[in-house]
Amino acid sequence: MKFADLHLHTSFSDGTWTPEELVLQAQKSGLSCIAVTDHDTVEGCPGAAAACAAVKMEFVPGAELTAEQDDTEVHILGYFLDMHNAKLLAEIARFQIVRQNRIHEMVARVNESGVALKAESVFELANCKSPGRPHVARAMVKAGYVKTLDEAFERFLKKGRPAWVPKSKISAPDAIELVHQAGGLAVMAHPGLNRTDSIIPGLVAAGLDGIECFHTKHSTSMSERYLEIADKHKLLVTGGSDCHGFSKGKPLIGTVKLPYEHVQKMKQYRSKGASVSAIAAK
Ligand code: AMP
Ligand code: ZN
Ligand code: FE
Ligand code: FE
Repeated sequence: MKFADLHLHTSFSDGTWTPEELVLQAQKSGLSCIAVTDHDTVEGCPGAAAACAAVKMEFVPGAELTAEQDDTEVHILGYFLDMHNAKLLAEIARFQIVRQNRIHEMVARVNESGVALKAESVFELANCKSPGRPHVARAMVKAGYVKTLDEAFERFLKKGRPAWVPKSKISAPDAIELVHQAGGLAVMAHPGLNRTDSIIPGLVAAGLDGIECFHTKHSTSMSERYLEIADKHKLLVTGGSDCHGFSKGKPLIGTVKLPYEHVQKMKQYRSKGASVSAIAAK
């Protein structure tokens, strides 16, 4: 059996491994195919593609776009993206500026809470164009303001806490269109984490191609529920670990193994413009 992991982050967003280190870990986990899906960037893809080619692992260029549907944040995964697509690159450059400005706002709010964190220390640690809350949390741990990343999120960074700053986001239909015009497939990430399935029909109407049924934070019953929803709406089925490198001592890569047949279906769907139901009937 061949397996894939289609949800992985690198140091080009909030993952801790370089693309090359990620590919090494993917090899150790026995994966045959991986996708890099960094937040609002494709910069990790060329390095990962080269590292995969060197070890004969299949690589799918991807990204995880932060979008919004009916006032709910939704992450849209793009797969088989043209990494050089001008519109995609222009749009993600805008998202990155929003992310960088948001770091300044979050640090200002952390400061208002009496913690003298410096924005510079966050940018230095992040060392990428697509910084996010995990970088703020890591900088706070590094400077000794909190003991753990969890403490940083619980006390400051999660929604409702003093340093939580909303991001201005692209609408989900626009994100799906952005993925499509870059030659990609648009997939709803970790639906179980959104806790609102009511947004799914709207995404389907906007051209959603697939849904991430298998994810580290999905229980077996959740995965089953989303497999049923995929079937109902004739969506592709994807899955991945959402590994960000080492987390509490051990990486998530290898904990979600998507049977390779799903990648084959994605490729068939893409190349032939075939409908999911036609592929499923094979
Ligand atoms: P952002 O895109 O900047 O809002 O950051 C979102 C990222 O933060 C997610 O991809 C998760 O990896 C991470 N994250 C969210 N909540 C937590 C949490 N409670 N503890 C640790 N990491 C978290
Ligand atoms: Zn992340
Ligand atoms: Fe996500
Ligand atoms: Fe992710």
